[in-house]
This record gives sequence, structure tokens and C-alpha cells, in this order.
Amino acid sequence: MKSADIDTKRWIGDRIKHEQINKYTEGGKDFIDDNKIFGILEENFNPDPVRVRDIIKKSLEIKTLSAEETAVLINVGDRKLLEEMAEAAAEVKKKVYDNRIVTFAPLYTGNYCVNNCLYCGFKSDNKGLIGRKALSMDEIRSEAEILAGKIGHKRLIAVYGEHPLTDTEYIARSIRNIYDVKVKTRNGFGQIRRVNVNAAPMSIEDLRVLHEVGIGTYQVFQETYHHSTYARMHPSDTLKGNYKWRLYSMHRALEAGVDDVGLGVLFGLFDWKFEVIGLVCHAAELEKKFGVGPHTISFPRIEPALNSDVSNNPEFEVSDDDFKKIITIIRLAVPYTGMIITAREKADMRRDALRLGVTQTDASTRIGIGAYSETYDKQQEERQQFILGDTRSLEEVIKEFSDMGYITSFCTAGYRCGRTGECIMELLRSGQEGRFCKLNAILTFREWLDDFAGIDTLLAGEKVIEKEIREVKEQNPAFYPKLVEYYGRIKKGERDLYF
Ligand code: SAM
Ligand code: SF4
Repeated sequence: MKSADIDTKRWIGDRIKHEQINKYTEGGKDFIDDNKIFGILEENFNPDPVRVRDIIKKSLEIKTLSAEETAVLINVGDRKLLEEMAEAAAEVKKKVYDNRIVTFAPLYTGNYCVNNCLYCGFKSDNKGLIGRKALSMDEIRSEAEILAGKIGHKRLIAVYGEHPLTDTEYIARSIRNIYDVKVKTRNGFGQIRRVNVNAAPMSIEDLRVLHEVGIGTYQVFQETYHHSTYARMHPSDTLKGNYKWRLYSMHRALEAGVDDVGLGVLFGLFDWKFEVIGLVCHAAELEKKFGVGPHTISFPRIEPALNSDVSNNPEFEVSDDDFKKIITIIRLAVPYTGMIITAREKADMRRDALRLGVTQTDASTRIGIGAYSETYDKQQEERQQFILGDTRSLEEVIKEFSDMGYITSFCTAGYRCGRTGECIMELLRSGQEGRFCKLNAILTFREWLDDFAGIDTLLAGEKVIEKEIREVKEQNPAFYPKLVEYYGRIKKGERDLYF
């Protein structure tokens, strides 16, 4: 065995801290009880419309639904009731998030990975089939410069494989480098102001390091909550094979001081009905133990990936209709949470998803390693984790949002003003956060229009901004004079003014 192999083996052996699982389990059991979930789904089959409408009413009061209540909604088949649910989901979204859409870009930092997830193009079994690479700090800065300076993103999700070459120290350095980037733009300067992270589960000590460098949301998708499917998808001799280490990663993050955590399921691995209840149980567990639920929920559908039967022919493929039902139910069940749809989905689906409750989406997306700095149009299977469904530019997406009456928000103020975690949940539930968000959406959208928009997008965006400013004047007059002052300063080239 080569010494690099021995080092990797040792690194793997040290990763999982069993005491940081056992402290949360009860009698060695985790909080996902498969039989109970199947039971709840069965007991609430064919629900009474009166009960369904009571549950919808509860959700409209921005109250989290229980697993049983969620099962009732999952079991609704009646077309009329489904329409009522979709309308209520849109109303909940409007109450909590108004007409704001947050955009971001993924930044894939590398594709080295010690795991062997059956559905992923980066799995270790794909040895020799893909070129492996981890970006250097200079390369990460170049990617961030393009994203912040040429496209206009202010928010990234940095994505990492699990490997000693891209360990916690690498993640921390890469985040520092991204935050350091400051690029001259047409009328001001561009910067990445929030770096969210999608990475493997970590120990509390490692998560404290990430908290100190100022990560935004820490995302770990459970992939599937169903224990035996999880075991089948993630070989037991790999790190990811440990279900509980992954399940409790959010507990450790919150304990380490990371306020915003993101849950997710990879839909297509198991029955979507089970998975939605799993997500709701996870949110309830976090609310119970930490007083704070998930900042975001992601719900990717499995996409084709290199050399992966599981992803090329998914056993539990989710239809478009069921996918929309999933979005509706998550919005109703966890009304305060941010919901993320990614460019895995095609443009039509993303439009419908926004109407039903999604609040965040990516654009100008490239998921090849180092792909933002290179000129290429075609997606390349051998350098990507999976194939994208929507490769439109940020500008195209923003133009469409503006035409639909949405305002694109680049606001990252909440996290920098301490409006995170438990505090933001209360503000969101009571609709108060919206007051700040509306103001910051106007200011950050103005920045983007002045720095990056072509003429058509500028005109469409300005229409939206004018309407928003009128609404602030009517609904929030105390803040209006300050808004007008900040707005004027931004038009003159000042940047990053926020409430
Ligand atoms: N390596 C880390 C992990 O697995 O937690 C984080 C990065 S991984 C690249 C991010 C997410 O991509 C995974 O959590 C999984 O849900 C998703 N993913 C993997 N393979 C996929 C596929 N074929 N189609 C869609 N999403 C996929
Ligand atoms: Fe590695 Fe994540 Fe892909 Fe699994 S999903 S092989 S952990 S990159």
C-alpha cells in the first residue's frame, strides 16, 4: 500500500466521532422510526376534507405541521382539495416571503471523494472514468471573481466532496478566499457576501472552524430517510455509510454555533411520501431540541450521472405532478423555511415551483470543476456530478422573474445583522422579517441592475422596483426616507448599504 493510501485510510478512520452521535440518540435509536412513518401514512389514508381544510388553515397561520397532519395532505387525491392546497401554499409563501426570489450560484470546488454513493458521478468507483481535481486557492478566487464581477452573484453555495485533500482546513481557506474577492464592476464593485456550504457531515470542532470563518447555511442532505435504502445506496465500508453520523450533522452544526442549517432529500431513491414525512420529522426534531428549524429545505430529483444505474433508471422516479405536490406540501408543512430549487430542473418546472412556494434558485449555473473560468458551452458528463436541466444565464432568469412581477433579491443582510437561526424564524413567522427584506431587496436589485443588466432587463427590473418603492411608502412609511437616501447613494456607485 502507498503511503498516500495509508494516510487516507487513517483520515477516514478518524472522521466519525461516535460520542457525537451517541449523545443525541435515545437508547441508541435515532428519531426516524420507519415503521411509525409507514403507519402514519396508512392511518391517514383517504382523509376527511374537513380535516384537510383545518390543516390548511393551521398552515396559513404559519404554524409547523405535525407528521400526522403532513400525512393527511400527502394522501389527498381529490382535484379540488389539491387546488386549495396549491393556493394556500402560494398564500403562505406570499405571507412569509412576499414576491422576493433569492438567487445564487453553486461553486464546485473539487471532485475527489472517498465515498461511493451509487447515484453520484463523483463516486470512488468511477476511478479512471473522470478526471479528479481540487481547485487551488487561486483558482477558487478566479471562479469567485467571475461570479461576483462578471455575472453579478452575491451568494454562493460552495460544494465539496469528502476527501483529505479538501478537508475542513481547505474548506475554511476557500471560504476566506471567496470573501476576500472584490472586483470592479460597471458602476461599483462586486463581492460574494454569503458563502453557503454543501459538504460532508463534520465534527462539532470542525463546524466551529467553519462558523468562525463566517459560513452562511450549512447544508447536508440526508438523501433518503429510509434506513435500508440508505444502507443500499451508501456502502457500509464508506464514511457516508453511517446513517446516524449524517442524520445528526445538523445537531452538531447548531451546537457549534452555525445558526442556519439546510435539509434535503434526493428524490428518486425511495417513496417520496416517506421522504416528505422524514423531512418534517427532522424539522420537528431540530425545533424541539434547538428551538430552530431548517433555514432551507432542498428537494433535488435524481439526474443522470456517469456510470450510475441508480440515477439513470431511478426506481422511485418522481413524476412532475408528484414533484409539484411535494413542493406544495413542504411549503405548507414547514411554512417559515426557505425552499430551494436548482438548475437540475427545467425552466418550466422552475416557474411552477416558484408559484407554489420556492424562494431560492440558482442561475448561470456550471457544475464542472473550474467551469466558470473556462469557455465552453456543452455540458460534459465526465467532469460533472450530473447533467443540468436549465443552463440559462442569471440575466435571462432575472428578466423572466421581473416580467412575472418577482423582485430578485441579493440581500445577505440578515446573516450579517444577526437575523439568523431562532431570531429569524420568529421574524419570518410574524411577517416582520419581510419589512427588512423588502427594503434590502430593492437596494441589492438596484445594485445588480446598475452593474450588470442589459437594456431590456433594466427596463423590466425598474418597473418592479418602482412598484416596490411605492409599497414601502404606503406600508412602511417610517423607513421610507432612509430607503430613498440609500437608494440614491447606490445609484451614485456606493455598494452594500442595508437595513
Ligand atoms: N459530498 C457531499 C455530500 O454528499 O454530502 C456534498 C456534495 S454532493 C456533491 C451534493 C448533493 O448532490 C448530494 O447531497 C446529493 O443529494 C446530490 N446528488 C448527488 N448525485 C446526484 C444526482 N445524480 N442527481 C442529482 N443530485 C445528485
Ligand atoms: Fe461523494 Fe457526495 Fe458524490 Fe457521495 S454524493 S460520492 S459523498 S460527492
